[in-house]
Amino acid sequence: MSEKTIFQKIIDREIPAPLVYEDDLVAAFNDVNPQAPTHVLIVPKKLIPRVGEATAEDQATLGALLLAAGKIADKLGIKDRSKGFRLVINHGKDAGESVPHMHVHLLAGRPLDWPPG
Ligand code: IMP
Repeated sequence: MSEKTIFQKIIDREIPAPLVYEDDLVAAFNDVNPQAPTHVLIVPKKLIPRVGEATAEDQATLGALLLAAGKIADKLGIKDRSKGFRLVINHGKDAGESVPHMHVHLLAGRPLDWPPG
């Protein structure tokens, strides 16, 4: 069996990291190298290496990631439209993917440029 990803080790509580949110399908924790005042990673408990490799079987998990984002935004007080947040998913080298365990970045707390770099 291949080595667990760093995110799998966090989910399995082998590496300590406070969870911002958890349900049956996903867990969320702060990014170790935050790119904004709020930078949370929302990660499926099941290993999906990257979003383009998800299958129809993963539909509920993919939905759970976005629903979790809304709940986390609510909890952090950034759901109001006058504040706001951005969700980012990097797939592959050109997008800057560095951890091969799908995750949604939730960024907030400062104005975010568009288009992104
Ligand atoms: P990617 O570039 O979209 O794959 O994002 C991977 C993210 O994981 C980066 O923003 C990293 O800073 C973050 N990261 C890597 N290792 C850890 C960790 O151990 N805890 C929390 N975040 C991490």
